[in-house]
Amino acid sequence: MGGDCGIRIADRGMNRSRRVEFADGPFRNPNSAIFALPYNLPMPLVRDRCICLRKVEFSETSQILHLLSQEHGIVRLIAKGAHRRTKAGHSKFDGGVDLLDIGEAVFTHDVSKDLCILTEWSLREGQLALRSDLRAVHLGTYGVELTGELLEQHDPVPQIFYRLEQTLTDLATPRREEAFLAFELDLLRDTGFLPELAGCVMCGRVIAEREPRVFFSASQGGVVCRDCEPTIKDRLPMDLRLLRMVQNLLKIPRANGSIQRLPRLTRAQTDPLNLLLAEHVEQMLGKRMRLPRWILKPAR
Ligand SMILES: [Zn+2]
Repeated sequence: MGGDCGIRIADRGMNRSRRVEFADGPFRNPNSAIFALPYNLPMPLVRDRCICLRKVEFSETSQILHLLSQEHGIVRLIAKGAHRRTKAGHSKFDGGVDLLDIGEAVFTHDVSKDLCILTEWSLREGQLALRSDLRAVHLGTYGVELTGELLEQHDPVPQIFYRLEQTLTDLATPRREEAFLAFELDLLRDTGFLPELAGCVMCGRVIAEREPRVFFSASQGGVVCRDCEPTIKDRLPMDLRLLRMVQNLLKIPRANGSIQRLPRLTRAQTDPLNLLLAEHVEQMLGKRMRLPRWILKPAR
């Protein structure tokens, strides 16, 4: 075996280094690799399809990015030199990453670090159709804010990645309101944040077909019946027809990131529901989000 098969590690307490050879080559034997883990190895790089959830310009040339990756969950990265171009006009990151962009990323992946390093970015979907419509931009931006708040870092949930990718496409169509609401419900369900919508969250009673009044409580996390309503301070009236609609939306089968035969919805239907769900999420997180108070005002 030649010198190519070893790795250089420092001898503890000695100002020199030695070669460690593995019989089957470097890192083939996982136990040996752990025993001899050196401090000066290059970080392993991974390649993954990613959606940009958040970007912060950092210095004149760099960006801090929160990306939702398909296989590695949410990763926070620094893109050094994101805005730097060569004289020929080439840029390492296609001129920088924008919110809602989808691309192929190569990055260091170290779950022990809060900030990984983006080394390559190839834009795959710049969302031009979505960006031409202000309502679609608002819903898309709120969708990625919710995703960033509800998912943990380094916790891959591929079905949420596919649903978000498909939803960003649907937001550029007349199906935007129903597409957003359905995504929001799926995200809440898949992250364990879905409020109780089948029956009263207090007494468990199923809400009857002809119930005269029904309420929603963000602090209790769900629907409240008229018997329990007087004891709940933060109760908000809820339209029974909208509750039925949400229950039905949750039952429609999902396949490959999309939902077949979504009913067409208007803002008169989705705004009150989005508001209740935003109240619920903020209660669960214990903090205000940035987007809801700008984009979820009830339609007049
Ligand atoms: Zn009740």
